[in-house]
Amino acid sequence: MFHIAKNWTESLTGLVADVSPSEQVDGPLARHFRARQIQALLSQLPLVMIGNTVNTLAILWIFWGHVHPVGLLAWALIVVASLALVSFGWRRLIRDTGKAMASRRSSRLVAAHVGLFALAWSVVPIVLFPIAAAPADELMLATMVVGMICGGGFMLGPHLLAACAYVGVLSVACAVGLVRSSYAGHTLLTLLLGIYAVTMCGIVLNSARLFMSRLRAEAESDRQKQLVDLLLRDFEEHASDWLWEIAPNGHLRHVSARLAQAFGLPATLLMQRSFIELLYSLVPQNDSQGEAALSSLTSNLRMGQPFRDLELPVLVNQDIRWWSLTAKPLIDERGRAAGWRGVGADITQARKARDDLALMANFDSLTGLANRHRFSAVLNQMSATGAGKHSPCCLMFLDLDNFKTINDTLGHGVGDQLLRVVAKRLKACVRDGDLLARLGGDEFALLSLLNMSRDEAQALAARLVAALSEPVQMDGVLVEVSTSVGVALAPQDGQDPQALLQCADLALYAAKAAGRNTFRFFSPEMGESTRARARLQQELGQALASEQFTLHYQPQVNLKTGEVKGFEALVRWQHSERGLIGPAEFIPVAEETGQIVPLGTWVLRTACRTAVGWPAHLRVAVNLSAVQFRSSAVVDIVDGILAETGLPAERLELEITESALIEDDAGAQTTLDALRSRGVRVAMDDFGTGYSSLAYLRRFSMDKLKIDGMFVRSLDRDAGAQAVVTAIISLARALKLDTTAEGIETQEQMTMLKALGCDDVQGFHIARPMPAEAISAYLRRQVEDALPA
Ligand code: C2E
Ligand code: CA
Ligand code: CA
Repeated sequence: MFHIAKNWTESLTGLVADVSPSEQVDGPLARHFRARQIQALLSQLPLVMIGNTVNTLAILWIFWGHVHPVGLLAWALIVVASLALVSFGWRRLIRDTGKAMASRRSSRLVAAHVGLFALAWSVVPIVLFPIAAAPADELMLATMVVGMICGGGFMLGPHLLAACAYVGVLSVACAVGLVRSSYAGHTLLTLLLGIYAVTMCGIVLNSARLFMSRLRAEAESDRQKQLVDLLLRDFEEHASDWLWEIAPNGHLRHVSARLAQAFGLPATLLMQRSFIELLYSLVPQNDSQGEAALSSLTSNLRMGQPFRDLELPVLVNQDIRWWSLTAKPLIDERGRAAGWRGVGADITQARKARDDLALMANFDSLTGLANRHRFSAVLNQMSATGAGKHSPCCLMFLDLDNFKTINDTLGHGVGDQLLRVVAKRLKACVRDGDLLARLGGDEFALLSLLNMSRDEAQALAARLVAALSEPVQMDGVLVEVSTSVGVALAPQDGQDPQALLQCADLALYAAKAAGRNTFRFFSPEMGESTRARARLQQELGQALASEQFTLHYQPQVNLKTGEVKGFEALVRWQHSERGLIGPAEFIPVAEETGQIVPLGTWVLRTACRTAVGWPAHLRVAVNLSAVQFRSSAVVDIVDGILAETGLPAERLELEITESALIEDDAGAQTTLDALRSRGVRVAMDDFGTGYSSLAYLRRFSMDKLKIDGMFVRSLDRDAGAQAVVTAIISLARALKLDTTAEGIETQEQMTMLKALGCDDVQGFHIARPMPAEAISAYLRRQVEDALPA
């Protein structure tokens, strides 16, 4: 029983919460809802007053003379005045602070007022009905009371508590009146009254629910509108984008400050013309991208097709900007086109970044020429279009001859500057439509798809070589520069780009081999020489394993005394088929593949082992390739070999070239110091052929300069060579370095060198390099003969 009661109250409170404002369900909005309820009742008051006045007058009319007039008038006054009071008092229950609010107490007060008012009216069924004289009066009273219950119930519908109080009080009053009247025993009438009351309660409940749900829906849509407003305001304030909306007539519906700012025009002007007209007026004239974008925009608008990220160049305040437009068509409730809504964004920055990226991807930033990527793309395109196969074309590879040295000695700044000058000179030689590219470093390529005869290609190649052989003046330095060019022609040399590239590469290699600063056309034998080179590489590996190398020794003799100071070890390859091969042919290959390290170690070990058997005053000079010198193990290897062979460090001289010192200053210095601190001597080989001999000499400590044979050979004919040798010798003296002149072939050369004050000499005129077995005989002869002078 208790259980049922509890359930019943629970469902009732649930029902009440559903149809009337409550803090639990509506939160702070409950106060507003209450105010809205009271306002709804207030808005009905004028009608209520009219109805009540009419009813009151009817009552006065019926009962005037039957009831005490004072009582009747007092009652009529109470009814009418209470309504007037209510209309004044209820307004004061609502507080309006931007939004109407009413407390729970106020709401209850309203219900109480209504209840009291109903009580006032209860006088009619309870007191007056039973004393009504005529059946017509009874009928009128009954109609009036039922009308009042129904009408009042409807009008009070928004306020459940008030409505219930009203209907309840009046219904009870009716029941009481019925009992007190002559119809007391009329069961059907009583039943009917009960059914009316219940039905009325149901109707009241329903209209209260309807009213509440309307209030709640309104509040929700209000909240959403506020949220959208907030988001929009935030968007307008913070994003660089602007919203636009156009009406079906093509004009903007409204112009935000941001939109006006984007267009650079006042809002009034923007409203005067259609959106598309505005865009047409902003897009720069004769801009193909702009025109394409406009026509696609126009067709989208016409077809009613939504579009996204449509990019458009515009001229705003003399400034080219890029906009991106996105929009979709609006449809009204009846499914008709209602204009467009979209967003515009200024993407100038992003677009510029993208363009820069594209430029970077295709062009070399240093010289402005096409880069390797673009070059390959054009070549690929070429194979697609069949150029080279069906139409002639010409490919040239260019490589600067001494760029690395310039870069290393004068610095990358000068190197970059030089590349720019080179690019400019090359550009001046080629025709429009030829593709000139920098492939990387100091490599350039020229691809000409225009018809070019062999003679024309030859003239062009000669022009390119000549253009670059002019020295370049930079930052007070006159830089000598030269280039080698390899030329391949399609279709005779190769028909597809890959073959053509290979041919041009081989031709370039041939131009380098021919002494540089020249050009070569591809010829089929070149392919043969590279194949031979590849074979050499392969054989070199086997030769190392099967010890096919041997050392020859060339004596170095003191010029004054004729005394032998030592021997330079020079490696040779005892090839099974080709006989003795000179180092000039295989050392560069070994350096390229790294095989020089094991080979050089073998040379050093063999030379030291041999030298240990010589008279103790004789030194052995061993050539150390730059690759070996720069390897971190070089000092350990030297240490190990000296220990292993027992050769005193002072008897070993290592010959290095300038290229060993370039690139890694600190590392080179460390290696040099480590070697010299052990007593090993270091000689600078081929001195005078490099570019910065003086700078290196001052920076790196060593023991000897070897004057290159090139100067020695032209001593007797060339005054310039004499000057160079004189300078080198005086320089060596100043730096306390020994000098050895290489490649002496004549007596005259030797006499001159003696006069110039050179210390030692080495060359065919003294002796050719000899096998180790020949040394003791040579030394013996030396003692017997005097120096040939
Ligand atoms: P290099 O160090 O300048 O050696 C001197 C070269 O000049 C030797 O050539 C020698 O035979 C040659 N020569 C000597 N006297 C005369 C002369 O009067 N007239 C002429 N025209 N030439 C003369 P080779 O033996 O053919 O060596 C060539 C180069 O190969 C050497 O030049 C050196 O740079 C390199 N090389 C030789 N052996 C080795 C080695 O064991 N290791 C390394 N890394 N390089 C080596
Ligand atoms: Ca040497
Ligand atoms: Ca040399």
